[in-house]
Formats: sequence, structure tokens, C-alpha cells
Amino acid sequence: MKQTKPFDKCPVCGGELEEKEVEKILKGGVNTAIIRVRAEVCLHCGERLYSQETVRLFEEIRRKLERKEVANFQPIGQSFKVTV
Ligand SMILES: [Zn+2]
Repeated sequence: MKQTKPFDKCPVCGGELEEKEVEKILKGGVNTAIIRVRAEVCLHCGERLYSQETVRLFEEIRRKLERKEVANFQPIGQSFKVTV
């Protein structure tokens, strides 16, 4: 599979990008999932850029969260809402 690399430089600040593994929090409905993916991370401002494939994966996971199709997801604990 061909990896799409849409940016050479950070589109926000023009800084250098480096491929890193990052943790992304996804929300769908009231559910939340955490996924580790590869992203281009700006060394200057911290902006994260994801490939088309990764963005599609995020959308798929959000849809599954909304529909509670979470049988294949590994539970890691509870999420809480704090009202102040
Ligand atoms: Zn930047």
C-alpha cells in the first residue's frame, strides 16, 4: 500500500516534520477510544498530520463508537464526566 505524504513542511508554521507514533483520542457518541498511529509531527509547533488512510480509520472507529460496535475494542477503564 502506498503511503500518502501530503506535506513536506508543517502547513501551520513551516517547521520540520518527523514521523512519530502518537496517541489519538477518538469520540463517537458518548464513547471514547484511544488509538496509537503513525503521524507526521511538527518539531516546532507540535501540529500532527495524518495520512488519508489514518483519517479514514479514525472515521471508521468514530462510526463504530457511535453504533457501540465495540466488541473488537479492548476496554481500558471507565470514562468520567466531571461537572464543576
Ligand atoms: Zn508547525
